[in-house]
Amino acid sequence: MTNQTMVVSECTSGINVVAMTVAMANSSLFSPVAAALPKPSFGGGGGYIAISRNNSIKNIDINNGERVKRVHAWVETMRASSPSRKSSLSQTDDHKTWMIQHPSALGKFEEIIEASKGKQIVVFLDYDGTLSPIVEDPEKAFMTSEMREAVRDVAKYFPTAIVSGRCRAKVHNFVKLSELFYAGSHGMDIKGPANSNHGILFQPPKEFVLMMNNVYKILLEKTKLIPGAKVENNKFCLSVHFRRVDENLWVDLAETVKSVLKEYPKLRLTQGRKVLEIRPTIKWDKGKALEFLLQSLGYENSENVLPIYLGDDRTDEDAFKVLRKRGQGLGILVSKFPKETAASYSLEEPLQVMHFLQRLVEWKRSSAT
Ligand SMILES: [Mg+2]
Repeated sequence: MTNQTMVVSECTSGINVVAMTVAMANSSLFSPVAAALPKPSFGGGGGYIAISRNNSIKNIDINNGERVKRVHAWVETMRASSPSRKSSLSQTDDHKTWMIQHPSALGKFEEIIEASKGKQIVVFLDYDGTLSPIVEDPEKAFMTSEMREAVRDVAKYFPTAIVSGRCRAKVHNFVKLSELFYAGSHGMDIKGPANSNHGILFQPPKEFVLMMNNVYKILLEKTKLIPGAKVENNKFCLSVHFRRVDENLWVDLAETVKSVLKEYPKLRLTQGRKVLEIRPTIKWDKGKALEFLLQSLGYENSENVLPIYLGDDRTDEDAFKVLRKRGQGLGILVSKFPKETAASYSLEEPLQVMHFLQRLVEWKRSSAT
């Protein structure tokens, strides 16, 4: 119950229902923020944003050629981060080729077990889209009790970490297993299992909590004008979900977010699966979290470890790339559709993830007897 209180106070979110169109600053979504921009005032409630609400509420002008190009690039990137049956490379031949390159981790289970011989498996699990289905309302991304059981069993045999973009307390509240490592806020907020000697292992400077709170309030206000947009405060990062936003308004949303971030040079914008992510500019991501956790477990330079990372998102690619670079461990992309990935294997959906985890446990149990 204490945990629930913490979730409410540390992680907050709001969804917008007002229908209007917004025009904002006209620069590229991913361009670096100029160092000369004004420093944020950490104590304020957000009143210092230069663009007045009246000025911002006007129909978007897409006649400017330069802007049209940017608009196109943004929407393409947002689509690429959120593949669907229509837009993905789901043609049969492409899918077959992709499956040869990224075979099913269930189909190649024996091969994976072979690779783990003499090594300690360490399991890393993304949450949304990996352990839970992607749902319209991110507040309702619950995992099934069967999945929870599978994760609990896996954690009995292998060190297991949840690595999520969400606030650590919130993802813990979804998973409800105290015996795991949790890396929230894209791995920026890491805590070890309860009753272990791994307490809080890593957190960014506290100034970011205050900064995120300020930006959260501003974004809540600004995105009120975009129906379906949902802002989530993940403590050390923010998520702006756009899965409920009409595709015609994606550009407006991206520009709104970017215009707010202009005032915050210490923050950067990245994209996930139907979500824009606002994070500190510190060089930290899920890949760094994976390395940090391996180090914390004493496997920094060990040959005797096999990290297995399962994730569905663009942000999980950082972890897949780290495994490739180490030449050690296996990345498993959870996706029904072919997409560019550094993962070696694939699984289609959370149900298959559960079967994979169950097979790992069955194999470990049977090999122990
Ligand atoms: Mg995910």
